[in-house]
Amino acid sequence: MIPDASDPGARCGARLTIDLEAVCANWIALRHRAAGAECAAAIKGNGYGLGLEQVVGALSQAGCRTFFVALPEEGFRARTVSSTARIFVLGGLIGGTGPDLLAHDLTPALGSPAEIAEWGALARRSGRRLAAALHVDTGMNRLGMRASEAQAIAADARALEGIDPVLIMSHLACGSEPDHRMNQRQRTAFDGIRGLFPGIPGSLANSAGIFLGEAYHHDLVRPGIALYGGAALDAHSQDNPMRPTVSAQARILQVRDVPAGESIGYGAAETVQRDSRIAIVAAGYADGYHRRAGSSDARSGACGVFNGQKVQTIGRVSMDLIAFDVTDCAMPAPQRGDWITLFGKDGIPLSALASHAGTIDYELLTGLGARYHRHYLPVRS
Ligand SMILES: *Cc1c(COP(=O)(O)O)cnc(C)c1O
Repeated sequence: MIPDASDPGARCGARLTIDLEAVCANWIALRHRAAGAECAAAIKGNGYGLGLEQVVGALSQAGCRTFFVALPEEGFRARTVSSTARIFVLGGLIGGTGPDLLAHDLTPALGSPAEIAEWGALARRSGRRLAAALHVDTGMNRLGMRASEAQAIAADARALEGIDPVLIMSHLACGSEPDHRMNQRQRTAFDGIRGLFPGIPGSLANSAGIFLGEAYHHDLVRPGIALYGGAALDAHSQDNPMRPTVSAQARILQVRDVPAGESIGYGAAETVQRDSRIAIVAAGYADGYHRRAGSSDARSGACGVFNGQKVQTIGRVSMDLIAFDVTDCAMPAPQRGDWITLFGKDGIPLSALASHAGTIDYELLTGLGARYHRHYLPVRS
């Protein structure tokens, strides 16, 4: 195949096809599953690697009104796409960033008495009430106020002066394991703390929480991974009800014949046992294809797919290159310029690649590198 010079992706070794319609379909499916609660969207980590602006645009069109980012910078980006959405900053109020949050109409998830005091002081200085989420910890010990701190805030009539608490939230540590006893413990703790702040909408569920059932849905759910087709429950890595949203392909730079007994790649980690035909593609760990997914004499790696046929990685994954064993491919044989699918549509599932790399769907998606040519399938309206 002669690369088409007019193809905007021709200069990129690898390409992503991102199905925004599938993201929207997943959001609608989750909204139905949590009927009665508002369905928001977690878009941190560049929209889980898919592209924050594109995801906000598509989900806004589908009817999503509330978004969660990790950091102010992500909130600024989301705000360029939607002037009306509610955007919560999960990282809370980073000291001194209050005026920037106000300027972009972002709402912090306040996770400590110090953050509450800083936001309240800004409210009094600016002469208006400022919306905030109150983030309470119910057992994860990551962000959020301890129960005792929340009790003290609730008992002090002046603690929230100037603040308009629009959401009270907590986060599940073990939601991906439905039978884990932490889930019920955290839900009970959360319901108790909510009782201290009557009338404020509550939110506990991430994607996994949505699948734990109605008792976890409260007033608002905050799915991330399931929107993007990733496994929310551990069981979903085998049997995932969500639609995949991303596929990745890498271009073959060379096809080479390697005689039995020669080794391939760094560290001479794998020696071919037979006369082999090897395709070298233009993607590697710099693109988020984990080094752990590679192969060696001791351990077989992930596979790609060429024309519906599985092809094994052979040898280590390099920064920019991966070798696949295409010896057994039927005609038409793979040639320079053809594409091998790394994961997704027509390839292996994202979760299968994650499991070869010893990681989870979240890490693969958010690690998709900046070098890919990104092709967005539009939302049909
Ligand atoms: C990332 C995150 C979410 C979304 O989690 P998923 O597991 O991707 O659905 C929700 N809430 C908080 C606090 C988060 O950090």
